[in-house]
Amino acid sequence: MTTIAFIGLGNMGIGMASNLAKAGHEVRALDLSKDAIGRAVAAGCTAAKNAKDAVESADVVVTMLPAGAHVKMVYGGEDGVFNYAKAGALMIDCSTIDVASAREVIASAEHKGFAMIDAPVSGGVGGAAAGTLTFMCGGTNEAYSRAQEVLNIMGKNVFHAGDAGNGQVAKICNNMLLGIHMIGTCEAFNLAEKLGLDAQTFYDISSTASGQNWSMTSYCPAPGPVESAPSNRDYEAGFSAAMMLKDLRLAQDAATSARAATPLGTQSEAMYSLMEAAGKDGLDFSGIMKLLNGSL
Ligand code: NAD
Repeated sequence: MTTIAFIGLGNMGIGMASNLAKAGHEVRALDLSKDAIGRAVAAGCTAAKNAKDAVESADVVVTMLPAGAHVKMVYGGEDGVFNYAKAGALMIDCSTIDVASAREVIASAEHKGFAMIDAPVSGGVGGAAAGTLTFMCGGTNEAYSRAQEVLNIMGKNVFHAGDAGNGQVAKICNNMLLGIHMIGTCEAFNLAEKLGLDAQTFYDISSTASGQNWSMTSYCPAPGPVESAPSNRDYEAGFSAAMMLKDLRLAQDAATSARAATPLGTQSEAMYSLMEAAGKDGLDFSGIMKLLNGSL
């Protein structure tokens, strides 16, 4: 049995921490919200009072927090993990954060003698609860291999993307591509319909032709062709437009600092920010269809 400190028990963290507890590990649960800690205790974790209490006996520290600022504070703040973790503890940050913060926190961990990886996920709340997440990891080979046991309990696919921060790079590049092909797919279905071609017929043709892509065949933004898609539930999320916008903004910040040209990524961010401005970013990210057909 490994003692694991789990910090950040929100929508994602609760399922992940529960799976670690179910696998027989002692999970020391910490969150700013008492209700979140209560849910973790009900799922078999033990409540920690503060960072010291959570991490001082932990072999592994896992975090699942909203953004880079939270991660920097939780690890490096005055009352942070680095001050209380035991020698040799392994740290795994699963949050989706900016690449620069991820690299900064990992460098600081290594400077203090801790092994640490960034390990953002895809798979959503359902994947977190089912233990089927995909992890994209960045860090040394040694830290990555030490993290395997814990990651394999919470996920189904675990990838080593390279050095520190490369997990975040993989995540934002993937999601930028997803945003772009979702918008393109919405445009194609919208145009087809305006020109008198119904969604199912266009789907039957394009899904076996060169326009085929994941947004079309697994998550079709036009109601009808893919039964499980949010478009058949009036675009109830799913993966919300707000979350897509968060990832597109991270991608744009990274592109600016790397001086990489991402004109379609820029345009995708602008499209999703229109959903935010309309107060509709709680809809699924395939709801761009509603922006295009005037039903938002
Ligand atoms: P969430 O807001 O539901 O959970 C975050 C939790 O962190 C909250 O319970 C909050 O109280 C806690 N927290 C914040 N600051 C803290 C601190 N200083 N100390 C202790 N706890 C603190 O968010 P979520 O949906 O669980 O997402 C977590 C991360 O996973 C984000 O980075 C998100 O981008 C990423 N992610 C989410 C999804 C998804 O579908 N929800 C999918 C993939 C990746």
